[in-house]
Amino acid sequence: MRDLRRDGLYRQLRVVESAQGPTVRLAGRDVILLCSNDYLGLAGHPSLRDAVAAAAERWGAGAGASRLVSGNMSPHAELEQELADFKGYQRCVLFGSGFLANVGVLSALAGRGDVILSDELNHASIVDGCRLSRAETIVYKHADLESLEHGLRQARGRDTVVVTDAVFSMDGDLAPLRGIAELAQRHGARVVVDEAHATGVVGPGGRGLVAALGLHDHVDVVIGTLGKALGSYGAFACSGPHIAEFLINRARTLIYSTALPPPTVAGALAGLRLLAGDSALVRRLWDRARLLRGSLARGGFQIAESEMPIVPLIFGAPSVALAICEEALTEGVFVQAIRPPTVPRGTSRLRAVVTAAHTDHQCRKAALAIAKAAANRDRHSPFDRPVPLVERTGEMPRQTTSST
Ligand SMILES: *Cc1c(COP(=O)(O)O)cnc(C)c1O
Repeated sequence: MRDLRRDGLYRQLRVVESAQGPTVRLAGRDVILLCSNDYLGLAGHPSLRDAVAAAAERWGAGAGASRLVSGNMSPHAELEQELADFKGYQRCVLFGSGFLANVGVLSALAGRGDVILSDELNHASIVDGCRLSRAETIVYKHADLESLEHGLRQARGRDTVVVTDAVFSMDGDLAPLRGIAELAQRHGARVVVDEAHATGVVGPGGRGLVAALGLHDHVDVVIGTLGKALGSYGAFACSGPHIAEFLINRARTLIYSTALPPPTVAGALAGLRLLAGDSALVRRLWDRARLLRGSLARGGFQIAESEMPIVPLIFGAPSVALAICEEALTEGVFVQAIRPPTVPRGTSRLRAVVTAAHTDHQCRKAALAIAKAAANRDRHSPFDRPVPLVERTGEMPRQTTSST
């Protein structure tokens, strides 16, 4: 622990003293919140609050057992059906969280003697899912189709799963999904795509990257979380009927864990209905993202032109990212420093995330505050200049209002 402190890698919990929203109360002060994954501002939305309260009255606080025993209730079935329809799949299976979904799905689909090909920047829960599966895991270079193909050749003759984030959580860039699907098909591999940061964020009406590229027939399982854009908690895996039945019989994190509480399920369902019923919500998120990116660029950061709400400001050393995070807080903006092992060494950063709930004024003010914090820090130690950000952009078709 002393080493962690010395290296600027020590982690501490901060306490938010208000509901989640574009501003939160932190240590007695209201600050602009610029690091939440509550992309559509639904976590504190009145419709979700009402739905959760009503469900608590009607269905109680807990499910009481695993879904395979007696915990599978009408709200669970209803949410699964609507999620499947939204994502364009025949079936959907709920899990306790995105972490549990990745671990459950990967360890069900792959086992000893099989191969999983995993992008080097995939989420920690995918990494742990690979480990738990006992399959041989080949890590391919980030978003690199040549590296993936090399891995697929190594896997020849064995059951193979390719797994990738759709939107990478710490950089906000997109997986080259069309290429991945093509290669996987050529080599007879299954494809699992984690749309934790794509659901409610990317594609027609926020339906995700698989939907944006029309790859339903080439992606076997789409995983998503209910805890980010959908404003609640829990997760899901969409697939065809065969894989859904297989997961119900084999995914240990589903079988051996208590079902989601009915109020939580009702909150997610209310979030999904808001999203599915109003594509303006997602367009608003894209507008905010463009505005924040523009404001940060004017503040001196090198920012890619994109509509993605995740904007990494890479500073390099963890202590620098941490110091600028603290500076930004004194300027009234909470944007968390992200350090190894969450991101590779030398890429410690502020991960700025804007939501549909932020006002124009809050976007501009936040960008200004971060630029000021970085400049202050720069003055204090001229050798720790921020590294200009070079973003990867992937193959996203440009999002337009007509695509929703
Ligand atoms: C957040 C996240 C998860 C985990 O989802 P939870 O519902 O928060 O457990 C999984 N995959 C990715 C890519 C994520 O960003």
